[in-house]
Amino acid sequence: MEENKYLSSLAGFHNRCLDELVILLYHGVTSSSSIGIENVSRKHISEVEFRRQIRFVKENCNPLTIEQVVYHCRTGQKFPPHSVAITFDDGFKNNFEIAAPVLREYQVPAVFYVCAGVINTDLMFWVDELECCINSTKKKKIKLKLGGETSFKVGTYEEKLTALEKIKSFCKLCSSIEKSRIVREVVASTEIEPGVNYSENYQKISWQELIELDRDPLFTIGAHTLYHDVLRNQPEKDMYATIQLSLDLLSYNLQHSIHHFSYPEGQAAHYDQKVIDYLKRVGVVCSPSAIVGLNPAGSDPFHLKRIMVGFDGMPFPYLDTRLK
Ligand SMILES: [Zn+2]
Repeated sequence: MEENKYLSSLAGFHNRCLDELVILLYHGVTSSSSIGIENVSRKHISEVEFRRQIRFVKENCNPLTIEQVVYHCRTGQKFPPHSVAITFDDGFKNNFEIAAPVLREYQVPAVFYVCAGVINTDLMFWVDELECCINSTKKKKIKLKLGGETSFKVGTYEEKLTALEKIKSFCKLCSSIEKSRIVREVVASTEIEPGVNYSENYQKISWQELIELDRDPLFTIGAHTLYHDVLRNQPEKDMYATIQLSLDLLSYNLQHSIHHFSYPEGQAAHYDQKVIDYLKRVGVVCSPSAIVGLNPAGSDPFHLKRIMVGFDGMPFPYLDTRLK
């Protein structure tokens, strides 16, 4: 994320977090050290760092469950001073293995929004496939049709990094068909078949692990579509299907209905009122975005802002000295 946008969206953070709700957005917590450009985006933060942050939250903030957040949004009641909610997106195995034990140790509640279609599978998100291929390839150069460019150097760490960033940002502007074509071309030209065995950080949570999280009163499970499908600008029936099927799959396996959701990608371009209306119709009570910011009392539970931690160097906001 652009630094200026981050800083301006969080201007006055240290005063505002007194009575506005802070929602932290994590993806993963890792105990393995990165090889090459694996986890270079810091989507998975280190266990040491996560523990430090959760201890800070426990000692200095007032952690809320997502149900408490919804209650305050609905009633318009003021949030308790220094309210914070912990959220995880996507459904990585390390949420269960590494993050949950730390949260339990400090008794800090959290909600896990999982892509229901990847649970118990070796499926990978497209960003992880690209990272895996480019990181592991022995090739010095790969052929790839991408806008005006036709080849990318991938011989050194820096070249791999540059290639990954370029391909990733190009894909983010593509249709899903075009994106799949690019991923296939990267797989073919790197001669790497991407797989979860390349890194622990690619592994997804199992149903048994999710059931265990769900049984703990500290934790709440929500949906995040089936396969991280962006909800806006796709045919309505596909949008309904990925919402409905993800909720159904979770409620079938967890044996209760699901009322929480978060939008994949989560920026303003990725969801709209149609999506929100459908979520409400199927019983969802809250769906935070990934738009950066804090949440004053009476915020709409379908437009909550979050602060991503780790990803692209985003610091833990409470200890970010640039925020006044
Ligand atoms: Zn996500």
